[in-house]
Amino acid sequence: MQHHQIVIVGGGNAGISLAAQLLRKNRKLDIAIIDPAEKHYYQPAWTLVGGGAFNINDTVRSEASVMPKGVTWIQQRAIGFAPEENRVDLDNGAVTYDFLVVCAGIQLNWNAIKGLPETLGQNNVCSNYSFNTAPYTFECIRNFKGGTALFHNPSTPVKCGGAPHKIMYLATDYFRKHGMLDKVDIQYWSGGSRLFGVPKYEKTLLEVVKRGNIKLHFMYNLTEIDGPNRKATFVGFGEQNKGEVKEVAFDMIHVTPPQSAPDFISKSPLASAAGWVDVDKGTMQHLRYANVFSLGDSAGLPTSKTGAAIRKQVPVLVHNILDAVAGHKSSFIYNGYSSCPIVTGYGKLVLAEFDYTNTPTETFPFDQSKERWSMYQLKREVLPRMYWSAILKGLA
Ligand SMILES: Cc1cc2nc3c(=O)[nH]c(=O)nc-3n(C[C@H](O)[C@H](O)[C@H](O)COP(=O)(O)OP(=O)(O)OC[C@H]3O[C@@H](n4cnc5c(N)ncnc54)[C@H](O)[C@@H]3O)c2cc1C
Repeated sequence: MQHHQIVIVGGGNAGISLAAQLLRKNRKLDIAIIDPAEKHYYQPAWTLVGGGAFNINDTVRSEASVMPKGVTWIQQRAIGFAPEENRVDLDNGAVTYDFLVVCAGIQLNWNAIKGLPETLGQNNVCSNYSFNTAPYTFECIRNFKGGTALFHNPSTPVKCGGAPHKIMYLATDYFRKHGMLDKVDIQYWSGGSRLFGVPKYEKTLLEVVKRGNIKLHFMYNLTEIDGPNRKATFVGFGEQNKGEVKEVAFDMIHVTPPQSAPDFISKSPLASAAGWVDVDKGTMQHLRYANVFSLGDSAGLPTSKTGAAIRKQVPVLVHNILDAVAGHKSSFIYNGYSSCPIVTGYGKLVLAEFDYTNTPTETFPFDQSKERWSMYQLKREVLPRMYWSAILKGLA
C-alpha cells in the first residue's frame, strides 16, 4: 500500500493552492493529491460566461498543468476513509498517511429537482453551475423575446451564495440595454429568507432589484421542472407559506442545483451531523482525529463557500499542518473571511467581504457596498489571471 506524509483528497482550488504553499515552505514534504479529474476549472468566471462576458475556454486547463511540481498525483477517486487506520480507500486500492487534508468540493444534486436532468441545457432551462451548461445561459438570455424569466436559489448551502442572483442582475441589465425591460417579468425564487446575509451589501442589492422591477419570493423550494411545457413548481416551507404549491410558467429559468457534502464524506467517520468534514472553525483541524484537516467547500466551516475564503484559509492551514508535522499544537486561527464579488450589471460590481460574524472586512479604502466599474474589472480581468498565475502556484 502506498504511504505519504501528507495526503490531500481533492485537487481543486483548495487542494492545489494548499500543496503549492506547503512546498514553498518546505520542499522536502512528501505530498500526494488524490483526484481523478482530467480538467481543472476556474468556476468563479462561469457567472460572466452565463452573461456572455467571458470565454468558457478560458475557465479550463488540464489538471496535469496545475499539479505542483514535487507532488505525487494519484489520479483516482477516493471512496471512503478509515481514520483510525490513517487510510483513504480508493476506487482501486488504498493509501495511508501521517496527515490528511480533505477538500473534495461540494456535491451538485441535479437529481433533487424532478425533471431537471432531462431538460437542463434545452427548453430555456439553464445553469451556470457547470462547465457544460454555463454557455447555454447566455443563449437563453440573448434569445429571450420577453415574458417571464425565473432565477432560482435552493435552500441548501451552495458554493458562492451570490451566484444565483448575480446572473439575474446581468440578465436584467442585458434586457434593459436591449430595450426589453418593460416586456419582462423577472422573478427570484429563493430557499433563503433574505437576499443577502450582510445588511450593508443587501441594501445596495435591494436597490438593484427595485431598478429592475424584480419580484422576490423567499422560503420556496423548486421541486419540479417541466421543460417541454415550461412550468416550474415551487413549494413553500416558511412559517407563512408552508406547503403552498406555486406552479409558475416561464420563458426562461436559471437553476442553481441543491448542494450537499459529497456522499463519500458524509457517510464517513469524518463527517459532522450535517455531512461536512467536522473541523474546528478556527484551526480547521478535525474535532476527533488530530491528524486530519479540511478546507474549502467540503469543510464544515460556518461561512460562505467561495474561492476567496480558501485564499484566507490556506495560509492558516499551512501553519497548522507544519506545526502538526513538527509535533506542535495547531494555533493559527481562520476568522471566517469570505468574499462575494456581486456583479450587479455589465461594468458594475459590489465587492462584499465579511467574516464569521457577517461584519464587513473590506480590503479597499472606499465604500465597497457601492456598485463600481473598478471592482468589475477586478473580477473580469485581475482575479482570473491571479488564480492561474499566483493562487494555484502558492504565491497568493
Ligand atoms: C457559478 C459559480 C460562481 C462562483 N463564483 C465565485 C466567486 O465569484 N468568487 C469566489 O471566490 N468563488 C466563487 N465560486 C466558488 C468557488 O469556485 C468554489 O468555492 C471553489 O472552487 C471551491 O474549491 P474546492 O477546492 O473546495 O472545490 P473545487 O474547486 O470544486 O474542487 C474539488 C476537487 O475535488 C475533486 N474530487 C471530487 N470528488 C472527489 C473524490 N471522490 N476523490 C478525489 N477527488 C475528488 C474534484 O475533481 C475537484 O478537482 C463560484 C462557483 C460557481 C459554480
